[in-house]
Amino acid sequence: MQSAYFLQRSALLFFAAFAIFSCSNSVAKAFSEKDMIIMNVAVPAAIAAIKAYHRGENVEKAAIQAAFGGYIMHQGFKMAPKMQEESAIKAWQSKCMINFGASMAESAGEEFVFRMDIGPVWIIAREGDIKIRPGLNAVIAPLVHLIEGSKPDFQRSLRYGTLAFKRSSDPDGTLNGSSALAYSNANTFTTNADGAHAGHELVHTFQYRRDAMYPLRIGNFIKGLDERLGDSWVDDTAWSMNWGLQCAWADATGRSKDFDIPMEKEAYYLEQKYRDPWR
Ligand SMILES: [Zn+2]
Repeated sequence: MQSAYFLQRSALLFFAAFAIFSCSNSVAKAFSEKDMIIMNVAVPAAIAAIKAYHRGENVEKAAIQAAFGGYIMHQGFKMAPKMQEESAIKAWQSKCMINFGASMAESAGEEFVFRMDIGPVWIIAREGDIKIRPGLNAVIAPLVHLIEGSKPDFQRSLRYGTLAFKRSSDPDGTLNGSSALAYSNANTFTTNADGAHAGHELVHTFQYRRDAMYPLRIGNFIKGLDERLGDSWVDDTAWSMNWGLQCAWADATGRSKDFDIPMEKEAYYLEQKYRDPWR
């Protein structure tokens, strides 16, 4: 039993690593629609298939459900970059599509569990029972933003369904105390007072939800952490682990963390392709 468990974890971790660099295509050339399909549809389907195989369940059925969920997620990603110009209803629609698609993909081959991140907590619905649990990353990230001196932006938080912060900006447009025009940290983002580049940052918060279904989370690396967290916390650390690894790779290969890592390439690709005109 123990070795089957170990094998499953190893296979899943291998695929998580594969997921990060599956877009290695994008390292050499521009990010494409094919890379998006790999990340949103093919990787979730492959992970669902491995999990179903190890549980002795129908592999094909699990892969199809994950692919279908992934495709819904894919449509949500395409909406994200233009949400600055769209209504709050549209922004929430895209957020719900991401969460529904990711929930379908991550529960493929198992009982359906709907999980949605809202600010520092996750809503988890299964069998008519709804639980609200804090997320490790979802609680820490907003605290970091507050400590850094960002101010909560309640209007934009409500509009995008994700915790938004604002900061004053310098004459060159960069945010006070940072070299970025806007930035995000897992489930949160910080912009200037006008909310410039919120669409780009929204893509990163959607990546946070997508990554939460991957086994790259910290509980898979620290022995006993899962048991300690139990049912009281959600381990939503995969986005940060993924980002950390991608940044380490950029450092090691002399590339830019702001432009060359797959996460950024995806956000810029979506902006250029689906937000017209490009600003
Ligand atoms: Zn970015």
